[in-house]
Amino acid sequence: MKVLNQPVQLPILSEKRISLHIKREDQIHPFVSGNKFRKLKYNIIEAKRVKATKLITFGGAFSNHIAATAYAGKENGFKTIGVIRGEELKGKWQINPTLAFANKQGMEFMFVSREVYKQKQLPQFIASLTNEFNNSYVLPEGGTNDLAVKGCEEILTPEDSEFNVICCAVGTGGTIAGIINSANENQSVIGFSALKGGFLSQDICKFVHSKNWKIQDIYHFGGYAKVTSELIHFINKIKEQTNVQLDPIYTGKMIYGILDLVRRDYFMPGTKIVAVHTGGLQGIEGMNDLLKKRKLPLINE
Ligand SMILES: *Cc1c(COP(=O)(O)O)cnc(C)c1O
Repeated sequence: MKVLNQPVQLPILSEKRISLHIKREDQIHPFVSGNKFRKLKYNIIEAKRVKATKLITFGGAFSNHIAATAYAGKENGFKTIGVIRGEELKGKWQINPTLAFANKQGMEFMFVSREVYKQKQLPQFIASLTNEFNNSYVLPEGGTNDLAVKGCEEILTPEDSEFNVICCAVGTGGTIAGIINSANENQSVIGFSALKGGFLSQDICKFVHSKNWKIQDIYHFGGYAKVTSELIHFINKIKEQTNVQLDPIYTGKMIYGILDLVRRDYFMPGTKIVAVHTGGLQGIEGMNDLLKKRKLPLINE
């Protein structure tokens, strides 16, 4: 998959003499996050190799990974089962755009309470699922495992060696781990955490060997999937200025963080940055439904 690096022109970038490109992984598919495809690629090959017929995975109501697994599962002839956090969604998933999309791809749901959902990594819980759904291949929440990291090692290409800094949004850390493994030693990788709390670095360390990376953890806007009017105005403004649509959970917060670091002279003049647009655009519709209820500004699409 060859993906465009789109140059971005903004007054703050020319003032500080920083070059910024956005790697348009979001263009891999209009609805499904680019990085989620990458994370599924080798897992699907493995699932076929072990002759599984079903994919089971886990996620919240707006999960990009749930949408991607449903779509890729259908494309590859697997049944898909989504273990979804929140029993309250049971008769109501039809009005949730992510779950409605996943169901349209054939995904079957199992709604579980938040307490049960917490067991998602426990061997007994996974065994109970594979007993119930035979011939199944289980993908962890967010899709992160060794094979997912291997898929994300294909995000950077040899042409990207012209960049000094590579930026990416971080959830479970699988995507950035792949990027770190394929970056040159003279490049530095910066992850922008979508989560509050400093536990991510350990998760990433499990998958990488080099040390040329860092997590910025102050651009989460209150925590995972939390948004403010400021963030929404920022996303809308970037869309006007660059024609790039950012998502509110990952890439909007990353680009906000990058431009804030530029403003604060974090990068030396002349630095060439590439920021990976991982996608996530399927989540905008559901987020706008929430914003409407809370009488907050909406994300322009
Ligand atoms: C899942 C996701 C991420 C984070 O990927 P991880 O591998 O979980 O760190 C970033 N951006 C988008 C759009 C995503 O859907």
